[in-house]
Amino acid sequence: MDKNQNNEQQQIVFHPDFFVVPDNGEKPYLIGFSCKKCGKMWFPKLPICPDCWSDELEKKPLGRTGKLYTYTVMNVPQPGLKAPLAVGYIDFPEGVRVGAQIDMPPEKIGEIKIGMELEVVAGVVRQDSNGNKVISYRFIPVC
Ligand SMILES: [Zn+2]
Repeated sequence: MDKNQNNEQQQIVFHPDFFVVPDNGEKPYLIGFSCKKCGKMWFPKLPICPDCWSDELEKKPLGRTGKLYTYTVMNVPQPGLKAPLAVGYIDFPEGVRVGAQIDMPPEKIGEIKIGMELEVVAGVVRQDSNGNKVISYRFIPVC
């Protein structure tokens, strides 16, 4: 279905600078920013490298999976989302820590474990003030 035919609600992709949803059906991924001088990776984009102050940062795709560093469960999430909602920080092998929602049905939230492997997916992260669904990155457990 063409999303433009639905004129009541649109889907808006948020963070196009560092979240890629390929048109060809391949899985989505995040973009890290690698310092050309010292090699350290950052996410999201920063104006300069906080380690060496270089302003030469280049985009590099991150791997699609990381390990859960920590998480919490919100009972009052953003508008348009159902409670309870898990949010966490995921450590990528490239050395960046990314905060995001964890896509888990409420009855399975108890199965979330620190250290578990999660993968990037595209999903609704909130509604904007016009009721549009805002799409960005979320994480689901790797089966
Ligand atoms: Zn640097």
